[in-house]
Amino acid sequence: MYFGIELGGTKVVVAAGLSPETLSPLIRLPTGDPRSTMAATIAALREFEARYGPCQAIGVASFGPIRLDPRALDHGTILDTPKLAWRDFNVLAPLREAFPHIPLVLDTDVNGAALAEARWGAGQGLDVLAYVTVGTGVGAGFFAHGRPLHGFLHPEAGHMLVRRDGAQDQFAGICPNHGDCLEGLICGPSVERRLGIKGEAVADDHAVWEQIGRYLAQLFHNLTVIAAPQRIIVGGGVGLKSSVLDSAHRAYVDLLGGYYRDIPDLAAAQELIVPAALSDRAGVLGAIALAETASVQAPQSPPWPQWRDAQDVLERQDG
Ligand code: ZN
Repeated sequence: MYFGIELGGTKVVVAAGLSPETLSPLIRLPTGDPRSTMAATIAALREFEARYGPCQAIGVASFGPIRLDPRALDHGTILDTPKLAWRDFNVLAPLREAFPHIPLVLDTDVNGAALAEARWGAGQGLDVLAYVTVGTGVGAGFFAHGRPLHGFLHPEAGHMLVRRDGAQDQFAGICPNHGDCLEGLICGPSVERRLGIKGEAVADDHAVWEQIGRYLAQLFHNLTVIAAPQRIIVGGGVGLKSSVLDSAHRAYVDLLGGYYRDIPDLAAAQELIVPAALSDRAGVLGAIALAETASVQAPQSPPWPQWRDAQDVLERQDG
């Protein structure tokens, strides 16, 4: 049994299980101040523990930016988020205190979702895939050759800079850091800022969704030319709207300009860019999938014997 925590900017989703088929009922909590949110999350995990017994590992799929490197002193610390109460808060510390002997595996919400889609969803059997969410924010996670992708931090492709959608779009964007990065132009709250009404109240055939689709197509184009993912999997309240995805597919083919013979037409684009198979459970299943990697990660050590052999060969060649 694994426990999974999807720590989002507006809500936390907690579940227990091993897979989509064995997932417990979800517990949803509002994201408030860090201390009370983590206390409520731990209380939910205790409930699962009482009902299903102890877990083998806990996966945490968190909003970011967050320090993921387990060797870093600030591993688990939320970095410069606009949610000021969470800045410099370590999300792993209260969990480690509550569950001192249980392995914790942390990644971003979108990297977790990419892993879950690779494990159980629309990316099964593939080597490289991207998971894109468009909702309250815009995020992209990558799964590459068996694991989520990290560098000095994690990918933040939602903050990609994009071309304006024709000269007519004068909207300044709402990203506190960049203004009109992709997230600033198309995230859920930007729709409300553009139109003066909440995104949920905007009709599905409103022109704004087509425009968001065209912006999203730029992200898909750029992901394609950077990493050539075998699939781009889309989630989030805005991303799962068919009017957005239809528009994005059409604009994506136009933007590619015939560059890829593997993606010649709309049908190929629709095969490459698909809605999340795990739907709105991709996030929490991502946390479960992360927990599952704890047992894989534990014995992971550098391949010393092979390395030494390689050194030997080099030395002999040098000599
Ligand atoms: Zn930005």
